[in-house]
Amino acid sequence: MQESKIFFSTELLIWYEGAKRDLPWRRHRDPYYIWVSEIMLQQTRVDTVIPYFQRFIERFPTVTALSEAPEEDVLKCWEGLGYYSRARNLQAAATQVVERHGGIVPDNKAEVSALKGVGPYTTGAILSIAFNRPEPAVDGNVMRVLSRYFMIEEDIMKTGTRTLMEELAAELIPQGRASDFNQALMELGALICTPKSPQCLICPVMARCTGRLEGAEERLPVKTKAKPPGPAMDRLAAELAGAGVIARPEGAMMNAEHTFSHIHWNLRVFRFAAEVPGTTSRGVPDAARLNSASTSGFAQMAAVAESTAGYETAGDAGDVGVTGSTGSTAEYRWITRQDMDKLAFPNVFLKILNSYFQ
Ligand code: SF4
Repeated sequence: MQESKIFFSTELLIWYEGAKRDLPWRRHRDPYYIWVSEIMLQQTRVDTVIPYFQRFIERFPTVTALSEAPEEDVLKCWEGLGYYSRARNLQAAATQVVERHGGIVPDNKAEVSALKGVGPYTTGAILSIAFNRPEPAVDGNVMRVLSRYFMIEEDIMKTGTRTLMEELAAELIPQGRASDFNQALMELGALICTPKSPQCLICPVMARCTGRLEGAEERLPVKTKAKPPGPAMDRLAAELAGAGVIARPEGAMMNAEHTFSHIHWNLRVFRFAAEVPGTTSRGVPDAARLNSASTSGFAQMAAVAESTAGYETAGDAGDVGVTGSTGSTAEYRWITRQDMDKLAFPNVFLKILNSYFQ
C-alpha cells in the first residue's frame, strides 16, 4: 500500500509538470487570486470561469478593493456565473480579512476557515496552493480519483468517507510539494480521470490503479443519488404576463438578487408609459420617475386596475412597499431597462427580460 501511495504521488507530480493548463490564477501565488478562483470554480467549469476571473480581478484587484466596492458592482461582475451567495459571501469575507487581518489573507487553518463562505475544501486549496501548507483539498473530483485508484467502495456522500479521503489525501502530499500536488490531483480529475469514460490508457498512474486493474473505474466512486430536481424553471416564463421587475431585499428567496413580482407575490407584472408624466396612482410608482420608460416601449399602464391590490406607494422616488398575499411586507424598488446594465440577474431571468425588452 505504501509503495502504491508513493508511486501515485511521484507519477502524478511528474505528469503535472508537463500537462498542467496555463490558467490565469496559476500565474501567481497570490492567495486572494487563488481564493477568488476557487470560489468561482465551485459548481462551474474552468472555461466559464476564466473570463469572469479576469474581469473580477481587474475590477477588484485586492481584498481591500473588493471589500470597499458597492455590492451591486460585485454582483454585476458575477452576473451569469450563478449562485450569487458565493459573491456576497466573498465580499463579506473580504471585509473580514480587512477588519481582522489588515487586508492580508491569513495563512493558517483556523483563520482561513473562519472566513464567510470558505469551507474545508476551499480552506485546503488556499492553504496548499497559495502557501504550500500540507493541507488536503478534497472535493468531488479528488474523491473520484482516490476512490478509483485505491478502490474505495464507500459512499462518497457520507461524511465518514470524506474524512477518510481527507486523511488519505493528506498522507499522499510529498514533503514540500503541497501546492503542486493538490493542483495535480485536481488536474488529473479534471482532464484524465473524468466522471464518464476516464482516459485510463494515458493516465500517469494507470499501472497501479486498483480500480482500473479490477475493471471498476466506471462504477466508482460509489455515490448515493441526489434528490430529484425541483420544478422546472421554465414555469417562470409561462407565468410572465408583462415585464416589470422588482428588486427585492437580500436573502428573501433563493438568494438571488431580483425576482419578478408575481413569482414572489403571485401578482401580475406592470407596464408603464413615460408619456403619462407625473402619473401617480395608488399602487403605481410615478411614471415620470421611471426615467427610461420612454425608450423601452412600455404600454400605458395596462394592468393597473387589476394589479394594485397589494401595492402601496412609498415616500421615496420610485420606491414601493409591496404587501404580498401572505400579509408580510418588504421594501422593493422599481427598476428600468437601463438599471439592468448595473444589476445582476440569474441567467433565466436575463433571457426572459431581454426577450421582452427587445
Ligand atoms: S487509471 Fe483510470 S481510473 Fe485509474 S486513476 Fe487513472 S484514469 Fe482514473
